[in-house]
Amino acid sequence: MENIFKIFLLVILYVYAAVRMPYMKNRDKIKYVKDKNKKLEKLNVFIAWLGMCLVPHLYVFTDIFMKYSMKIPIWGRCLAAFLMILDVVYFYYIHKELSNNWSPILEIRENQNLVTTGVYKYVRHPMYTQCWTWVFLQGIVASNTFVWIFGLLSWGLLYFSRVFNEEKLMIEQFGDEYKEYMKKTGRIIPKLF
Ligand code: SAH
Repeated sequence: MENIFKIFLLVILYVYAAVRMPYMKNRDKIKYVKDKNKKLEKLNVFIAWLGMCLVPHLYVFTDIFMKYSMKIPIWGRCLAAFLMILDVVYFYYIHKELSNNWSPILEIRENQNLVTTGVYKYVRHPMYTQCWTWVFLQGIVASNTFVWIFGLLSWGLLYFSRVFNEEKLMIEQFGDEYKEYMKKTGRIIPKLF
């Protein structure tokens, strides 16, 4: 049974990467006019990559985290796996909505527009909501404390070092339009936070 969860995690990770790939490729073709904390951003993205990609791969291909395995019932792991499928569909949808404005680090592209439609009508950072749920669910599917905690911490580091700076950058770029937008939206949860 463990192997089934391992295969699932591997496949869903590659589906996730495949969703992002075209935007990653596209990004190289677009000129960026402004960035913020570039070096720190790159370092934190790398640390998040460790927790969201390397550690899950080590869980799949080695037994080094075996001593951290948790006793989560099969049904709980299956439910988390199902939610991860929904999460990746949501990830696809957000990418479509944000389109060429997406960037792996904090940047403003040439002709960037402020997206306030779709799920962006309710939250300013739907992709970050998605990342939180993703790292939470991957640890449950793996049923492993290390995968869980390291995933949450590595993503949390990127999130907390970025989100406030991102909002500052957006205000620099879009001014009152973004300030107004902030009043109408939650940060990662509609209305609440
Ligand atoms: N924080 C957003 C986007 C993540 S990608 C989310 O969670 O969905 C990061 C890039 O998106 C940043 O470089 C920023 O320039 C851009 N960005 C963030 N919010 C945006 C918006 N509402 N419209 C257009 N671009 C946005």
